[in-house]
Amino acid sequence: MAPRKLAAGNWKMNGDLAALDQIAMIGDAGASCDVLICPPAPLLVPMIAGAGPVKIGAQDCHAEDAGAHTGDISAVLLRDLGASHVIVGHSERRADHAETDAMVCAKAAAAHRAGLVAIICLGETEAERDDGRTLDVIATQLAGSLPEGATAANSVIAYEPVWAIGTGRTPSLDQIAEVHALLRDRLVARLADGADVALLYGGSVKPGNATEIFAVPHVDGALVGGASLKAADFIPIIAAL
Ligand code: PGA
Repeated sequence: MAPRKLAAGNWKMNGDLAALDQIAMIGDAGASCDVLICPPAPLLVPMIAGAGPVKIGAQDCHAEDAGAHTGDISAVLLRDLGASHVIVGHSERRADHAETDAMVCAKAAAAHRAGLVAIICLGETEAERDDGRTLDVIATQLAGSLPEGATAANSVIAYEPVWAIGTGRTPSLDQIAEVHALLRDRLVARLADGADVALLYGGSVKPGNATEIFAVPHVDGALVGGASLKAADFIPIIAAL
């Protein structure tokens, strides 16, 4: 088995009801890979209703299955609504909500208990890269964020350099290859089916750079922010995969 190819869109705190027609356009375009959109939580229900072949996921979940956690959303509920995936540990949540590797690990475990695929995000800051610590940072984040029980069926890893997100800057293809090779090595060492875990690159993926990024060894897809908001931008990225 080879990793399943996945083009995933992270809408972050963007989009509205009128954006539902973008999902229909993306679905109508057809795709030979899995296509996922992760909208803001209030849009999950109407989007799932009109998703067609597009999978719909969430941007975060709580680490517990239920309880007194005002404003939070459980993976159990996300699954009940029809979500297929949940992003955990995005660098914006690690920064804005002080999420640690241990918290991300607990959220991924909750996703697995609920039957969701966890997209576990990792990435170095610019200062960490400048210090030559990228591979150490990524290895540490992977070790701490991947829960027991992770498999190729329930887990996807997204490498997203913090300094490349929303900036228009991307690492060189060699830099992407170096990190993805490390991730593959560590996954193969830790999981029986580590060779089959899909590895996504994220950070300023656009129609103009998708083809060369997807040609990098061990890049099995992308996690796309800004360029996933409009079908006209996202469809060529999906087609490049
Ligand atoms: P970007 O965001 O594509 O807008 O850089 C990627 C992400 O944060 O997942």
